[in-house]
Amino acid sequence: MLNAAEGDVASQPMCPQHPEREAVRTCERCGRYACAACEGDEGRCRECARLSALEVPDSRARARRATVTQYVSGGTSLLGLLFNLLLYPELKGEPQEVAASGVVLLGFIVSITAQVCLLMWVHRVVRQLAALGADLGMTPARAVWMWLIPVINWWKPYHVMRDIAERLGGVPFVAALPLQLWWGVNVVGRILERAEGKLLDGKLGGVDSTTTEVVSLLSSVCSVAVAFLCVQLIKELQTRLNQRREGLFEPEAPVVQDEAAAA
Ligand SMILES: [Zn+2]
Ligand SMILES: [Zn+2]
Repeated sequence: MLNAAEGDVASQPMCPQHPEREAVRTCERCGRYACAACEGDEGRCRECARLSALEVPDSRARARRATVTQYVSGGTSLLGLLFNLLLYPELKGEPQEVAASGVVLLGFIVSITAQVCLLMWVHRVVRQLAALGADLGMTPARAVWMWLIPVINWWKPYHVMRDIAERLGGVPFVAALPLQLWWGVNVVGRILERAEGKLLDGKLGGVDSTTTEVVSLLSSVCSVAVAFLCVQLIKELQTRLNQRREGLFEPEAPVVQDEAAAA
């Protein structure tokens, strides 16, 4: 149970860390007595809570990978944009088609890779938060599924990122992040991408090629913006998480000896 009462301990043993204090519970992991100051999360003593948080591997490497692949993805979208604007109109016939499908294929591979790296990072971050006692209310796998399940993936990934930010830095931190902008541009970009697909397939009749070009252009602009906003979010969230974890390596804060006087 989370907050066991004094009834847990039969004959009022004392805390091994603070011999002058009565133990309020025994740790479920190591079995040692813990006073109110030594009590950690989820029935464990603080030391065990600290150790189990450190057992979860670091997410820095995954954050770096996610950042790099987002940069590459944004850069590729930018190149695609320049290609459509400058090179595509110059080419004719087969070279034009080959170049265009090459650009599309490259963009696809790069964006899938960036997405996989982002989700691997999200998975690790959610796992770390749970170990730090800042549970997101969902398993890491479930958080990842929010990006993959159709319909739900139009709004749930935003909630996951917002919840991560809130656990790490509270409401002011959430407000300072470009979360809404990131997700807003993401949604607009996806709508444009679908419209572009339909226009190119000729499913939306009576539309001239200029409209298709404008939609394609705006869609690429959105992809570039989303990638760079995503990098910013990953960096900010990972920095906060690093600070949290570094706190675990620091020696425990001295316990106030005389609580009665303070009260
Ligand atoms: Zn323990
Ligand atoms: Zn104690």
